[in-house]
Amino acid sequence: MFYNSHKNPLISATFSKALLASLAPDGGLWMPASIKEYSPSECAELSARSFADCAAELASNFVDNKFTKADLQNICRDAYDFPMPLKTVDGYELDSATPELAGNAFFLELFHGPTLAFKDFAARFMGRAASHIMQKKGDRRVILVATSGDTGGAIGDAFLNQDGIDVFILFPNGGVSKVQEQQLTTIGGGKANVHAIAVDGTFDDCQQLVKDAFADKKMSKEFKLMSANSINVGRVIPQSFYYFWTSLQIKAAYGNLPIVYSIPSGNLGNLTGGLIAKAMGAPIDRFVIGNNSNNPFVEYLESGEYIPRPSVPTLSNAMDIGRPNNFPRILKLYKNKFEDVQKVCWGASFSDADTERHMRRVHTETGYVMCPHTAVGHMAMNAFAQDVDIDFVQVTVATAHPAKFQDSVERILRTDVPLPPALQKAANMEKVVEIAAPELDVLRNLIEIKLS
Ligand SMILES: *Cc1c(COP(=O)(O)O)cnc(C)c1O
Repeated sequence: MFYNSHKNPLISATFSKALLASLAPDGGLWMPASIKEYSPSECAELSARSFADCAAELASNFVDNKFTKADLQNICRDAYDFPMPLKTVDGYELDSATPELAGNAFFLELFHGPTLAFKDFAARFMGRAASHIMQKKGDRRVILVATSGDTGGAIGDAFLNQDGIDVFILFPNGGVSKVQEQQLTTIGGGKANVHAIAVDGTFDDCQQLVKDAFADKKMSKEFKLMSANSINVGRVIPQSFYYFWTSLQIKAAYGNLPIVYSIPSGNLGNLTGGLIAKAMGAPIDRFVIGNNSNNPFVEYLESGEYIPRPSVPTLSNAMDIGRPNNFPRILKLYKNKFEDVQKVCWGASFSDADTERHMRRVHTETGYVMCPHTAVGHMAMNAFAQDVDIDFVQVTVATAHPAKFQDSVERILRTDVPLPPALQKAANMEKVVEIAAPELDVLRNLIEIKLS
């Protein structure tokens, strides 16, 4: 399988090259040259496999000959050793309840991995795939990752103590939740290969710094820079796996009822994964996109006009993205045809006041506690259901554990949201962090010092 630059189909690379290079030489995003579509009978066969084994089969279409099927099975079984329940607000789970009992509105809880956000799915696959490639090459790399909160934790955890790789996590100083900051700054205790940098600026400043570092030929060569943000195709591909497998589980229970996923979105990496799953034959009819007030994609879906702008801070900070970096991938998947994007994607955006009200209402009525991001997705799903007035299976993607946003969730719901063990451990560790101005020279010096 080859990858092409989204800007120029003549520029191509293997999976291993695309993963290590992050961006194509012309600055384009790597896109799979083709996507294998599974027939309904092949899908039925895959649906009977475990998630990890289904993921390994899907992955085999996207990698190169550095990976055998056995390598992929080992990687996926090792990466995906935690559950991903489909749950109703009443606590029914798809695999244990009949559709009559469960109804047809689910949360797909993707937050049961080690850092309690869906990004573990992609980070853990990518970390293992990258280290597999490096072992074969005997090489070194520096990962620069900008995070609005969850990516840094997931990448840091997935790459901790992986030989040949140093990780620098850039986050906006004061712009992530207390729990996230505690988690980001305690990975490896300051002695390992994972380093946290608090940048005096916004997430967009962090993302720009990473882009500038890559664009700086000298710096990117000297350090052998590699990105683990969702510009890296190695992050996006694994995000198709859970859409594919869960939609098959739902189809097995619900037959031909249409299936719609709602995704609270920022950089649109999660949505891109979903669209790739659909292209592979996953029985998904529609994607609903929830944005906070940073909503250039939802505006685009309404008007056909895409106007990126600086991000503004909100309650759902992992989605405070003014210029979603996977937008070009989505256009590419649909050959720049707005009408085709619109047929598959529907969007709505919500203010922080909407989000707080919704979290309170659902908690009061059902007891279900969701994080602010998930709430945005759930509101979008409800708005879509009203708009279309048909019967379908609703799957709201629950992207983070509510305790990751303990401060705001406890304030909004006026109830205790206890930290799960993984976060409890981080809470008791000492923070190790460098504070930096949003300038390339400052970043370069910091990296030099840490690597020496
Ligand atoms: C990263 C993140 C998102 C946004 O995902 P994208 O792939 O950037 O659209 C939503 N919710 C949470 C909790 C996240 O960490």
